[in-house]
Amino acid sequence: MPAISLDSVTKEYGTDTVALDDVTVDVEAGEFVVLLGPSGAGKSTLLRVLNGLTEPTEGEVVVDGTRPAAGSGSDVGMVFQEHYLVESMSAFRNALTGALSRNGLLRSLLTWHAEADKRAALDALDTVGLLAESGQRAGSMSGGQKQRVGIARALVQDPDLLLADEPVASLDPKAARDVMRYMKRAASERDLTAIVSLHQVNIAREFGDRFLGLRDGDLFFDGSREDLTMEVVDRIYYGDEGADGTFAGSGLDGSAAADRSPSSGRTVAGGDGA
Ligand code: ADP
Repeated sequence: MPAISLDSVTKEYGTDTVALDDVTVDVEAGEFVVLLGPSGAGKSTLLRVLNGLTEPTEGEVVVDGTRPAAGSGSDVGMVFQEHYLVESMSAFRNALTGALSRNGLLRSLLTWHAEADKRAALDALDTVGLLAESGQRAGSMSGGQKQRVGIARALVQDPDLLLADEPVASLDPKAARDVMRYMKRAASERDLTAIVSLHQVNIAREFGDRFLGLRDGDLFFDGSREDLTMEVVDRIYYGDEGADGTFAGSGLDGSAAADRSPSSGRTVAGGDGA
């Protein structure tokens, strides 16, 4: 049984917006999947139907054998672009709040944590390379370190599935790579299935094992690193305009166009993701 199964999933907002358009895909346990697509393509919506925050309009979503529902437990860990840490608290305390969904609100409000939770927080900080900084105030950490604390917090939930929505969008390339390296390590050490949405194709290529390409809610690409050719990348970001060879010759690695993010100056046809 696949870890994740989407069967003909459509999500409409109002009468005009089709955020996901008849998406069917299976993801096996342990896969590290990168979701690519321009702003407004439906990446966040796909992640939200997987963690139960959004109900599909049509179709069926199954995660670990059940239909996801908001607040239904700790099986899904989520990492966001904004880390939403409590800046005045230490990295350790922030990571520990990941135990909230395991233990329930009351216990967390009483800020009483079992030894097992504390150990889990330290283990998670170790996984993201921040054990030595566990006592450091989150507010004094770099953007990359904060994002790694965000990953640690998700790991403390002891999830089976790790979802990350543009986790490195606001980081410089070096910090972005660090964060991706630790996320990949966490997924592999803990046997997690991971789905990570990214803008940056060159970073995606370095870390993804499998790539899903979304455009205007349509999942039109599903392939390996070798399948992710420049033509495919152009189609993901620029639609048919890219597929006709207009941008042929721009390399994925090191060339000026290597980071084909929509924010890199080009107008992207389609939704604006606002
Ligand atoms: P991405 O994450 O790829 O930027 P989204 O999933 O956020 O894309 O958005 C897909 C489409 O759905 C966009 O056209 C967006 O404007 C629309 N959308 C997303 N969330 C909502 C919402 N809560 N209400 C109305 N429209 C939405």
